[in-house]
Parts: sequence; C-alpha cells; structure tokens
Amino acid sequence: MRLNAKQIAACTGGTFVVEPVDARALLTGLTWDSREVHPGDLYVALPGERVDGHAFIAAALRAGALGALVMQPVDQSVRTLARELGAALIDVPDTTHAVTDIAREWRGHLKGRVIALTGSTGKTTTKNLVRDVLAAAHTVVATAGNQNNELGVPKTLLTAEPDTEAVVVEMGMRGAGQIAALCAFVRPDWGLITNVGESHIELLGSRENIARAKAELLRELPEGVGRAFVNADDDFADFVRADAHVDARGVATVLFDGSSQAPERCGQGSGDEAAPARMWAEDVTLDEQGRPHFTLCACGFGDDDAAAPAPAVETAPCSLTLRGLHNVANACAAAAVGRAFGMSLAAVAEALSHAEPEAGRQEVLAARAGYTVVNDAYNANPDSMRASLRTFCALEVPGRRVAVLGDMGELGEYAPACHEGVGALAGSLPLERLICVGELARLIADAAEQAGMDPARIVRADCVAEVLGDLDAYLEPGDAVLVKASHFMGLERVVEGLVN
Ligand code: ATP
Ligand code: MG
Repeated sequence: MRLNAKQIAACTGGTFVVEPVDARALLTGLTWDSREVHPGDLYVALPGERVDGHAFIAAALRAGALGALVMQPVDQSVRTLARELGAALIDVPDTTHAVTDIAREWRGHLKGRVIALTGSTGKTTTKNLVRDVLAAAHTVVATAGNQNNELGVPKTLLTAEPDTEAVVVEMGMRGAGQIAALCAFVRPDWGLITNVGESHIELLGSRENIARAKAELLRELPEGVGRAFVNADDDFADFVRADAHVDARGVATVLFDGSSQAPERCGQGSGDEAAPARMWAEDVTLDEQGRPHFTLCACGFGDDDAAAPAPAVETAPCSLTLRGLHNVANACAAAAVGRAFGMSLAAVAEALSHAEPEAGRQEVLAARAGYTVVNDAYNANPDSMRASLRTFCALEVPGRRVAVLGDMGELGEYAPACHEGVGALAGSLPLERLICVGELARLIADAAEQAGMDPARIVRADCVAEVLGDLDAYLEPGDAVLVKASHFMGLERVVEGLVN
C-alpha cells in the first residue's frame, strides 16, 4: 500500500493523537506484529485476550513504523516517542475494522484483476496453484499461507501494488454473511468455489446453508467482466450458480472438474453458443509416488485477439508434484483461471508441474530409521480425510502402511456419522495398522472394525505420547505413516516425534 497518514485517518474515521511530521510521507505496509515491522509500516494495535497490541506501540515505532493505529488512550511516553520520531498516532473506534477500512480504500487504487477463492476444502492448495500458474506470465500477489480471515484478507490486498496484474485472495468462513462481508471491500472480479462439503456444518446446519454461504462470493461479481469458477463435479454446482443469479446478472460461468469425464460436455455440436468454458482432466493415472499424470483438456475459452474461435477441445499433457487424485480437481481449477487469463494451455500445464505443496498438507518427509511420514496434520474435515487416506494408500511403499487419525472438529450433530464414514473407508483400504487418537476418533476405530479390519491391527489412543509409544514398538524401516486430524488435536507433535 501507499497511503499517507491523512488518507488513513480519513478512511478509518480516526483522529490524530500525534500528527505526523511529514503529512505527505507514505505508509508502505501494515502489520499488527511489532516483531515484523518494516520501516515505513503502519502498526495496528489490536486488542487481544492474552496480549494487547497497545503494549508494543513503542517497540513498533522504534523498529521504524511511520504510524500506529490505536483504540485506547496512549501513555505520555509513547506520545513523546512518536513526536521525536515524527510518526503519527491515530485513534480509531476499532482497530480491527480500521484494517478493513484501509483495505477498502486501497482496493480503489488496484488496477489488476482480483480473484477470490472459497470452498470447504482445498482453498489454500488451489490458491497456491492459481498463484503459481499466473506467476508464470503475470505479476501476482496472493494470500500468504492460510491468512484467510478478516485480518488476513485485507492484508493480502494491502500487499498488492496498483499495477499488480492479479491479486489472489483466499477467503475462509465459519458462518453465513462472512464471505459477503469480505467481498464488500475486496470487490472480487472473479470468484472461485473449490467445492461444497461438510466443514463447519455445526455452525450452518445443512449443506444447503453451507452452499448458500459460499455462493455469497458469486453474488456480487461484476456484470460483464465477472467470472464464476465452479466445480462441475460438485453436487452443489448448479445450486451456487442459481443462488447467486450468475446467468441473470451476465456473469460468465467457467466450469472445472477433475473427475475425468468425456468431452461431449463441451457443448460441441450442440449449437449452444452460451455453453460455459470448461477445464477437465482425462486419462488420469497416479504413479508410485501418488503423483497424478493426466491430459488437461479445455474448451470454450476462446482467444481475445483471434478472429477465429479456439479449437473445439485443446489438450496438454500435465503432471503434478502434488500428490493425490483430489489435486487433479484443484489443478483443473487453477488451470481454468490461468486459461481464462489468456495463458496458453501448455504454459498452464508447465506451471502446474512445478507447483510445490504447502507445509503440513500431504508433505512427505523422510523420518529417522528409514520410514516415511506423510504429514497432513495441519487440518482435517471428512472430505480431506477421505482424500488423504485414498492418496496415502495409492502410495507405493516398500513396508507397511500405518494411519494415525485424530478427531475432526466443528461437525456438531453430524460428528458421529462423519467419523464412522471415515472409519468405514479406512477399514476397506490396505492399511496394516490404524491408530485412532481422541474421543471421536474411537468411532473411526469402531467403524473400521465393523468394515472388516482385524481388531488386532486397530489401536485406540488417548494422547500423542501413547501414539508415539505404539509407533516406536511397531515401525520398521520401509514403513510409511500418515498423520491427520483437525488442527486442535496438535498431531504435528506426532510428526515431530517421528522426524526428529
Ligand atoms: P482451511 O479451511 O484450513 O483453510 P483449505 O480449504 O485451505 O483449509 P487446504 O489447506 O488446501 O484446504 O487442504 C487441506 C487438506 O485437504 C489437504 O491436506 C488435503 O488432504 C485435502 N484436500 C485438498 N484439496 C482437496 C479437495 N479438492 N478435495 C478433498 N480434499 C482436499
Ligand atoms: Mg486454507
């Protein structure tokens, strides 16, 4: 961002506690962590339950912050320091809201395309793939890591330059209205929904409600330039488009799916000019490392500068570094965005082949004593748990396969059925040992047993130490271990125990 203190005070409804020495000096970044301040930043003092950001204003100013946003009275010593350093202190009604206000202001300066993504599963993975594809031919700024909430989303916008060609924004949500609130200042040009699953069903009550909450992303897309990227393989594909009145508002739909269907769906020969553009995968295979190889297929994207229409179906061979069949859908989503951006299908496929996974998401690690650990401990919901198990069992390993699965959170009354579903699948897969950690995970163990898995190969554990003890006694060189659960279970400690 590049905004001066006056502009910041104006857009946040703030008043100066200390005026800046140079009213035209530009603040060039924003942070709420005083340890991460870069010279020229605006420091935002967020109130916190454990630590209050107001305690670190002096540290932030000393680190080079040109200004600070506050919502509480500031000590005389801090005011004096700000005066000495020529920095601004701005008092606002609410510092968290102020971050959104600044992002709204800065959004007006951005000339590139803003692409927002949401969905139940695969947001960060797909966001990274979109970023990596577009970055092969354009300037891109994307959400860092998983910063997809009311602070991370504005921060992503503020990281973009006015002429950044693509700004890729991951949006998370836990309830109705949250995506709409983010869209109100992000004003995305394009919106992508990865899928509609069961995560956060506890808060939303039904999959329809989850779909409606996701559809908020498509509802405000601008007429004409807006594009809605929707997963054709998802039961709720038509629902989200209809709910957001995409067709009626003149927003073009782009479909993607990784399910390897036949190409008639392109609308070829049907004479249907309005058939949506589509990206899909054919001839999908997994190699012994669990890496997908397939033919990327596209139709209906056209070429802006060509008088003649693009060939009916374009194809390009594609291989991923990311593992698992579910990543074929994520790759097709990213390819659809890249192709719609005007990139050639070959360039898109090339970029996809270099994309690397994010830490904690099916990261394959070599552990001590010659076994392999698949670290998927970052998070879990029923869809990702199933995808992860299938991917793990497609991996060719010299030894035995062991899955360590923990509780999945935020499923409310659906929790038992969801855990049992995962257990039924686990029981039918080629796993030599299944270790279930936690209260709900016991239902995974029970269902696996019911599905026919030998009870002697199922372990019910209450804590990480118990899991590590069991693995220590059991594992031999060549064995592979998958570790997956919701974030709150802290199963990364199992991974650390195995790797270190
Ligand atoms: P969060 O809600 O935590 O932000 P996310 O939607 O960003 O999650 P990712 O972090 O990309 O999701 O992926 C989490 C896990 O979900 C991955 O480790 C992978 O196992 C699984 N996953 C990713 N994409 C898909 C998909 N399309 N379908 C099913 N599972 C998937
Ligand atoms: Mg994420």
